[in-house]
Amino acid sequence: MHEIMQESSTSEFLIEENEEPPSSEEPEEPPSRGALHLQQPSIPPFVITPAHSFPIAPFVQLRRSARTTPRTRAFRRRFYPQATDSQWNDWHWQIANRIRTLGQAEMMLHLSPPERDALVHLGTSLPFGVTPYYMSLLSIDNPLDPLRRCVIPTVHEQMTFPGEADDPLGEDAQSPVPGLVHRYPDRVLFLLSDFCSTYCRYCTRSRMVGHGSLTPQRDRLEAAMAYIRGTPRVRDVLLSGGDPLTMGEEKLEWILKGLRSIPHVEIVRIGTKVPAVLPQRITPALVRMLRKYHPLWISVHFTHPDECTPESAKACAMLADAGIPLGSQTVLLKGINDRVETMTELVHHLLKMRVRPYYLYQCDPISGSAHFRTPVEKGLEIIRGLRGFTSGYAVPTYVIDAPGGGGKVPLMPDYVAGRQGDALLLRNYEEKFFSYPDVADVSCPQGLYQ
Ligand code: SF4
Repeated sequence: MHEIMQESSTSEFLIEENEEPPSSEEPEEPPSRGALHLQQPSIPPFVITPAHSFPIAPFVQLRRSARTTPRTRAFRRRFYPQATDSQWNDWHWQIANRIRTLGQAEMMLHLSPPERDALVHLGTSLPFGVTPYYMSLLSIDNPLDPLRRCVIPTVHEQMTFPGEADDPLGEDAQSPVPGLVHRYPDRVLFLLSDFCSTYCRYCTRSRMVGHGSLTPQRDRLEAAMAYIRGTPRVRDVLLSGGDPLTMGEEKLEWILKGLRSIPHVEIVRIGTKVPAVLPQRITPALVRMLRKYHPLWISVHFTHPDECTPESAKACAMLADAGIPLGSQTVLLKGINDRVETMTELVHHLLKMRVRPYYLYQCDPISGSAHFRTPVEKGLEIIRGLRGFTSGYAVPTYVIDAPGGGGKVPLMPDYVAGRQGDALLLRNYEEKFFSYPDVADVSCPQGLYQ
């Protein structure tokens, strides 16, 4: 049985809450000490109850007070029978017990040949890692299950097609200091570390995420903050990575406090997938700390309605209760969320979780992403299927991040059908036509609006 652990397993910064930043020599992965190991002797590989025998309770059908789904409960009973509630609900435990090897994956899933081959030959590409919680949401025997496709590698990601690149957005070329991207005039992207609790196979930063090359080393973070301090036009800082919320409170607070001490930094935003893959991380202590640094915004990364569980709803509620506006960023992915019905279900769940659908991204042409990318027309079809059919708050802005560092370009279906004289001919969501008297520069009778 091959072991595919590529990431180191000795760093402490994700486990200890009062730690000093690791040195650049320290690898970024957490230790496995204290981890509960899988009950291997009682679980023979390949004799796993098929996924369809696990009752799947969609979020919408759960009682408001439900704390988890029957599916997660069944998974936990089967694979982690010795884990106590406090262990399962502890984010450190979830990280320390991540599924990171072929052997572990094989015990929990009926791997398809493309999945198995990918895990055997993962090489130097994006590492494999899934929290036990997120693993509980995957189908055991269906390799086309949307969440499973998001986190279990296949050999397709090892095939590069024309137009793809490791850094398609040209971030490295727009980094004045390591780990800081300055693309737009008034805002910067500050990459705190390259660690994520669960690695998305379509990650735009798969060239560096999980490789241990971008550590939250104090010198590097101070250099990035010095750049922000010395650049008065920067009024908005987006913290990303990796996932910033996999850092301990103390380190994160040190960064937030540092940014807040810069007079021209008006807002700080955090981009995170934690509420979807590691909702246990949203603790009262974290929320108490975050709320001290308003105005603070959080962009959460949700991909599919199956991620909207009682656990993720609770995590979002805790953040929203702390006065943190939540927006979602979703990557459009072939066979995962590229149907109007799926996207409608997702955006409705998000609104119920007090998350405003913010961006729908066309999948970036990273190397090995062809199996995830849809034609652009698919994104326009989804927006057409949302606009008018549901609340405006539920409709995200569909964007392409222009390759080469051009920034986000919004795309909209064309609702202007043409002109008839001075009138603009509009097509509504039901394909009905209306005209609007678009008279240029009508002068108002004097005094009318005074
Ligand atoms: S959480 Fe974000 S940074 Fe981490 S692997 Fe997923 S897409 Fe990449």
